[in-house]
Amino acid sequence: MAHPAHTVLSGLDDVRADVEDLYRDLHRHPELGLREHRTAKKAANALRDLGYDVTEGVGGTGVIGVLANGDGPVVMARADMDALPVRERTGLPYASTATVTGEDGDEQPVMHACGHDVHVACLIGCARLLAGRRDAWRGTFVALFQPSEEQGNGAEAMIDDGLTTSPRPDVVLAQHVLPYPAGYVGTRPGSFLSAADSLRVTVHGRGAHGSMPQAAVDPVVAAAMIVVRLQTVVSRELAATTPAVLTVGSIHAGSGPNVIPDRAVIELNVRTYDDATRGQVLDAIERIVRAECEASRSPVPPEIERIASFPPTVNDEEPTRRVADAFASYFGDDAHTVERQTASEDMSEIPRAFGVPFTYWAIGGIDPGRYAEAARNGTVSEDIPVNHSAGFAPVVQPTLDTGVSALTVAALAWLGG
Ligand code: ZN
Ligand code: ZN
Repeated sequence: MAHPAHTVLSGLDDVRADVEDLYRDLHRHPELGLREHRTAKKAANALRDLGYDVTEGVGGTGVIGVLANGDGPVVMARADMDALPVRERTGLPYASTATVTGEDGDEQPVMHACGHDVHVACLIGCARLLAGRRDAWRGTFVALFQPSEEQGNGAEAMIDDGLTTSPRPDVVLAQHVLPYPAGYVGTRPGSFLSAADSLRVTVHGRGAHGSMPQAAVDPVVAAAMIVVRLQTVVSRELAATTPAVLTVGSIHAGSGPNVIPDRAVIELNVRTYDDATRGQVLDAIERIVRAECEASRSPVPPEIERIASFPPTVNDEEPTRRVADAFASYFGDDAHTVERQTASEDMSEIPRAFGVPFTYWAIGGIDPGRYAEAARNGTVSEDIPVNHSAGFAPVVQPTLDTGVSALTVAALAWLGG
C-alpha cells in the first residue's frame, strides 16, 4: 500500500498553479501586522470553499480552519501572514509597490520581506491536498493563520481572544522560509531560535544649568555608567559556552551643551536561547539599572518597560524526530539538520497556551543555482539576500512545492496513522 503522504501528494500537480498564483498575489499585496485583512479574507474564503469550519477575526485578523475527518490525532499547522515596512527592490514583475500611512502620517512602503506570503500559500496548498484525499488519513487538521508575527504580538492576540477554545491539538507545526537553497528542508531538535526582548529604560535626574552640577543629578552620566556596566552581563555573568547578546541600540538625553537634562532614555535588545539564561540576563539588567541610579542619587526610581518580547523557540524532541524521519523518507538528501538561528518568533506561544508540544522547521527559498554559485565563490553572505532585506523574495519553485509537501508530510506523520 502506498504511504499516505504519497497518496495525498499525488494531488500536488493539480494545486500547484493555484498555490503559485496565490503566492504572487499575496506578494504583490503585503499587509503590516494586525492589518492583514485582505490576506485573512483570502485564507478564510479558500478554507471555507474546501469544507473547513472557519472562524475569522481571532485576535484581530487571525483565521482558524478546522477539518474534522473522523477519530484520530489533532494536528494544528500555523502560518504567519504579516509583511514589513521595507521598500521592495527585487525587480520582480509581481513586486510590491504598496504603501501605508504610518502613525506619524508618513507614507511607509510595505513588502513581504520575510516570506510570510510563502507560508500562507503553502498552508492553503496543504489544506487543499488534505481536503482532497480524506480517504487517506484520519483525525482533525487545523489550519491557523496568525497575524503580526514581526511585532511579536499576533500569537498572544489570538490566545487572548479565545484561541484555546478551538480543538486542542496533539501537536503544533510551523515552518519558515530562510536563505537556504530552495528544495532544502531543515529540522532541529531543541533550541532553534533565540528569545528576543527589547527594553526601554528611563533614568531620572534633576535638571539644572550646565555650570551648576551641584544643583543637578545628571542622568547623562548615570545612563553612560549603565551602558558600560551592561557590557559585563554577558562577558562576566554568563558561562563562555552560553550564547547571549545584549545590545544598547539607542540612547537619548538632553537638548544642548549647557543644560543638564532631567532624564535619559536607553533602549536595548537581548537575545538568549533558553528561559533560564533569559531570566538571568533580564534580572541582571534590572539590578544594574537600579543600582546605578541609586549610586547616582537619582531622585525617582528608573522605569524599565518591556517594549517587545519573543520567547525562545525550543523544539520538542519527540515531534521533531517524527517530522525529521518523515522528511528523510520523503525528501531524501534534501532533508537536513538546520543550524541554530539568531532570529526570533512568537509561534511557540500557541502550543504553550494549549500545553502541547511543537516542532518548527526551515525551508529554503533561494534559487539553487544562484546559491551554489555564491557558495563556490565564498560570497553567500554578500550575494544571497536574507530575510528582512529589500531583495528577499523566495523563488516560486521549488520553494512552494517544498513548503506544501513539508507541511503535508509532517501533518500525515500523525494523521496518516
Ligand atoms: Zn521576519
Ligand atoms: Zn518571518
